[in-house]
Amino acid sequence: MNVILFGPPGAGKGTQARLLKEGYHLALISTGDLLRDEIKRGTELGLEVKETIESGRYPSDEIVLQVFESHLKKVKDQGVILDGVPRTLNQAKKIDEIFGHLGICLDAVIQLAVDDEELIKRLSSRVICKTCQASYTPEVPPRVEGVCDKCSGQEFIRRADDEPEAIRVRLDVYNKQTKPLIDYYSKTQRLKVVDGMKPIEEVNKQIVSLLGESQVLTIKSGCLYSAQDI
Ligand SMILES: [Zn+2]
Repeated sequence: MNVILFGPPGAGKGTQARLLKEGYHLALISTGDLLRDEIKRGTELGLEVKETIESGRYPSDEIVLQVFESHLKKVKDQGVILDGVPRTLNQAKKIDEIFGHLGICLDAVIQLAVDDEELIKRLSSRVICKTCQASYTPEVPPRVEGVCDKCSGQEFIRRADDEPEAIRVRLDVYNKQTKPLIDYYSKTQRLKVVDGMKPIEEVNKQIVSLLGESQVLTIKSGCLYSAQDI
């Protein structure tokens, strides 16, 4: 099973992706996490994208796809969930090409729909662990208050791109870039819209049921390699 999850920042993609990863034993590819990891490790690429990411802008398609493809090759046999990519029409087309080369079937594209006002509310209340970057919200707090689940760190900070100014920039960019993506995937019957305003468990249930339908579609009508062929 190979799934693309998309939706605006703060729509709950990270949380839903983790639930799917556990439920279906898929590899999660979050380009945001991969890039933040490059920054943290101080790699050449990390240094190149640091300022861009922290001001709420997105790195170039070339950089995003480079990080994406090299990680995809390592985990592709497991089935993958993509979180944070594609974000542009160009990326979507390139990913179709990459999937085609590697023989990866795209089963479903899940769009999480959430109102802008709700997104701003959610993002401005999100914090991350200063040590390991794990993120927490009032809806998904650490198991023990004030202590990070992953590393037991006790210092939490706001991500640079979750500052109100940066959030507005991110939502603006997202809204402008999403429309062509939605049109692109709509042509394929693989696009499923999920109401992301619902509680986490309910959103997960909706997604699982849609993925079941998508798998049936793949079995019935074969592998979808490229939306461009339709
Ligand atoms: Zn931590």
